[in-house]
Amino acid sequence: MKRVLLKLSGEALAGEKKTGFDEETCLGVARQVKKLVDKGIQVAVVTGGGNFWRGRTSETIDRTKADQIGMLATVMNCIYVSDIFRFAGMKTEVFTPFICGAFTSVFSKDAAVEAMENGKVVFLAGGTGHPYFSTDTTAVLGAIVIEADMMLLAKAIDGIYDSDPKLNPDAKKYEEITIQEMIDKKLMAVDMTASILCMENKMPMLVFGLNEENSIVNTVSGTFNGTKVTV
Ligand code: UDP
Repeated sequence: MKRVLLKLSGEALAGEKKTGFDEETCLGVARQVKKLVDKGIQVAVVTGGGNFWRGRTSETIDRTKADQIGMLATVMNCIYVSDIFRFAGMKTEVFTPFICGAFTSVFSKDAAVEAMENGKVVFLAGGTGHPYFSTDTTAVLGAIVIEADMMLLAKAIDGIYDSDPKLNPDAKKYEEITIQEMIDKKLMAVDMTASILCMENKMPMLVFGLNEENSIVNTVSGTFNGTKVTV
């Protein structure tokens, strides 16, 4: 793998607290990503925003406005996580699809690729810039645009199961599954829009648990323990 896109859900950044940031969790992620960078792998990161806000859960305010708040939550997350990465010894740059003044750079493929080639970890913050989309879709779209070899999907659960392991103790984890099968069986590791985009553009995914020790580093070694989603 030369270039990967790592998607971290908002909840994954919050650790046990489920909301806000958990510094130890984020530092753990940073230390692992540093190992990938030190191996010469270029890394782009998309974070969710669910640790602060999800547009679709608001029943009172307009969905477009609610989604704008969600997109801004991802900007906060990326600024925070990118600075934890800087503390861990990496160079970073945060890109957004809209102008955020001096806080971020406006995304372009060329600028993001150039930053990665110069050794920076790039953060694709602010979602797609459009309501009614998710950061899953942002991540797949980002991976396709920057021509990543693979999308790494860090979740609270350690892979894709045939049923919910919290409800079914006999749930079986897939070592490998095709995107088509994932869609057919409604085993949505990412939402439907993101899944279709993945399938149409042949973007493979590795799904794994962020809580498992060294799980990000293991995605590039032989000891990967999650689910490989093939195209
Ligand atoms: N969002 C959006 N457009 C995008 C990406 C995100 O409107 O392209 C908003 C949406 O409100 C979403 C919120 O940002 O609920 C946070 O993203 P998401 O729910 O994907 O975060 P996660 O569940 O991964 O933490």
